[in-house]
Amino acid sequence: MKTILIAGGTGFIGSHLCKRLVDEGNRVICVDNNYTGTLKNVAPIIDNPNFKFIEHDIVNPLDIDEKIDQIYNLATPASPVHYQGKAALFTIKTCVHGVFNLLELAKKNNARILQTSTSEVYGEPLEHPQTESYRGNVNPIGIRACYDEGKRLGETIFFEYHRGEGVDIKVVRIFNTYGANMNPEDGRVVSNFICQALKGEDITIYGDGTQTRSFCYVDDLVEVIIRMMNSRDGFTGPVNIGNPGEFTMIELAEKVIEMTGSSSKIVFMPLPADDPTQRRPDISLAKKELGWEPLIPLNEGLVKTINYFKGAI
Ligand code: UDP
Repeated sequence: MKTILIAGGTGFIGSHLCKRLVDEGNRVICVDNNYTGTLKNVAPIIDNPNFKFIEHDIVNPLDIDEKIDQIYNLATPASPVHYQGKAALFTIKTCVHGVFNLLELAKKNNARILQTSTSEVYGEPLEHPQTESYRGNVNPIGIRACYDEGKRLGETIFFEYHRGEGVDIKVVRIFNTYGANMNPEDGRVVSNFICQALKGEDITIYGDGTQTRSFCYVDDLVEVIIRMMNSRDGFTGPVNIGNPGEFTMIELAEKVIEMTGSSSKIVFMPLPADDPTQRRPDISLAKKELGWEPLIPLNEGLVKTINYFKGAI
């Protein structure tokens, strides 16, 4: 039994991680400010004696009165509608001050710490698919920069704590992920399309819909995050984690309409600034080092996600 702290534990991916690690017999301390997360996501484990929720914003230092073995950092608003605009400066603070505070906690506890970075570090990629050695093409002053540059700096801070302070780090770069516990108000393409289809509303494609994304079902993602945390000493990553299946937004909209039997129509709206044209992970490193590849194809994951949203909206 390990004592594991999960920052961002009431969020979409964090809540799945909390449940899985509690179910496996660990003590889990979930830290969240519930800005985008919700206690509803951890309802199945909230009364488990091995689960503890602490309402706290990691922008402020935190001290925990238990010895911690592992720390997972999933705390950042990750959806454009939640990280941009009024939230932009707060997003940067979470990505930077929050990361410092968690690394200090790891150092004090001699704990291993995993950073969930993002495919956004590649920006508008000029290499396709993206390998970990690709250094990206990010607009440092664009509306996505608070998140993209915040996450890039997060990786830098992790590696400096590793080199300079000897902290045991792991870094993963998460590509688009979907599944149960997504926030219906999150503005993400999968949640938007499914909610719109279920309500019979127009399906909103931004731009001409030829942009691509690669969608990983959350159970596959949680599996590889845990494998990375427990990977061999000295293997820091960064490692791309995601599903290499690549789809245009038009293909996704058509699939969702067909699978929900919806009468919704597709409408086209302006493409937000700096919206990446294409994105697909090269997951060779995750396969080699972690023996992992995603098992749940998009159609199967969409069925599960549609069923979740039927009960959630
Ligand atoms: N998108 C869309 N309609 C929506 C929401 C998003 O066409 O209602 C597009 C968005 O412009 C982007 C893609 O879907 O090209 C993925 O958007 P999301 O916010 O889910 O993820 P990210 O852009 O962060 O990869």
